[in-house]
Amino acid sequence: MVNRQQSMDIDYYQTLGVSSNASREEIKKAYRKLALKYHPDRNPDDKEAEDKFKIATEAYEVLGDLEKRKIYDRYGVAGLRDSGYNGPGGFDDIFSGFSDIFGDLFGFGGRRGPRNHRGPIPGHDLRYDLNISFMEAIFGAEKEVEIRKQDTCWTCEGSGLRPGYQPETCTTCKGMGQVLQAQGPFRIQTACPHCRGQGAVITEPCQDCQGQGLVERPRKVTLKIPAGVDSGARMRLRGEGEGGRRGGPAGDLYVILHVEPHKFFQREGDHIFATIPVSFSQAALGCTLEVPTVHGPEKLKIPAGTQPGKHLTLSGRGVPRLRGSGNGDMICEIKLVVPDRLSRRQKELLREFAEIEEKSDEQKKKGAGFLKKFFHL
Ligand SMILES: [Zn+2]
Ligand SMILES: [Zn+2]
Repeated sequence: MVNRQQSMDIDYYQTLGVSSNASREEIKKAYRKLALKYHPDRNPDDKEAEDKFKIATEAYEVLGDLEKRKIYDRYGVAGLRDSGYNGPGGFDDIFSGFSDIFGDLFGFGGRRGPRNHRGPIPGHDLRYDLNISFMEAIFGAEKEVEIRKQDTCWTCEGSGLRPGYQPETCTTCKGMGQVLQAQGPFRIQTACPHCRGQGAVITEPCQDCQGQGLVERPRKVTLKIPAGVDSGARMRLRGEGEGGRRGGPAGDLYVILHVEPHKFFQREGDHIFATIPVSFSQAALGCTLEVPTVHGPEKLKIPAGTQPGKHLTLSGRGVPRLRGSGNGDMICEIKLVVPDRLSRRQKELLREFAEIEEKSDEQKKKGAGFLKKFFHL
């Protein structure tokens, strides 16, 4: 069972073997060297080479882009994600993401261009949306999800061929994959319509996948959700996307996390907010209350004269930091609660209190009158 986690902080400079002040040209050159060495077409069925190829590409996507490189230099991979970049690799099919780089580097139009040599076809990347509870996001969780996807056919190993048979050279294009078509006074070269540019046709298709090389198959994937994730966090599982064909690598699976709200706690980044109801006498005289935190009940000291709306902080009682150590804070917002029922004794005492309050108010007013006179206001 695969449970690789999202690549957290990778040293992209090290990946490409360049120094952190390398020029764009140096970066491009370093990537070109690695890409040529580890390109899947040159290393069929070599998972290690494929991984190296993908990581190098990831590094180039970041360091080759001035804006992304700046963010990466300052804040690392996390910074890229926070800035709305799709993180390493991104959501688009990774191969489409760098097809333009490829056109540039190798002089061909990336892996989505015409395939006239029956080469490997990589699988598509997949997206999976996963709801997790408020507490699971804070403390992390291990989740098993079942993904229905198009996976490489086991019978033909993704070739689409009935075992024991070979594809036959296309008679229309004689294996060239291209045909010349008359169009008015011109003759133009187009992909062969019979073999769809592949130069060969499958006359004996695999019966399990009808020659597609892929079959729908459910797959259970275990996700290790790290403590401290928040809504919108993405996890990338390499090779858990759609299956490849003809020896092409599988795509990646991107899991997007959605955190459910909590009825008592709210979250803002690493901090947790909660409203703490306090009576008038508790706020006025001060007290110590036991309040719930995500880590369990904690003592909160309410100082005398605490005003409603005041924020009191329980330091370190918030969310574990995804990167770095320690926790955020728990912030308690004080809410004043007026009792809806009072005993006779309570009423008596409150009336007495009100009388004293009125007297002192009158004295304040007198004082104000005196001041007015004094300053001729
Ligand atoms: Zn098959
Ligand atoms: Zn043909």
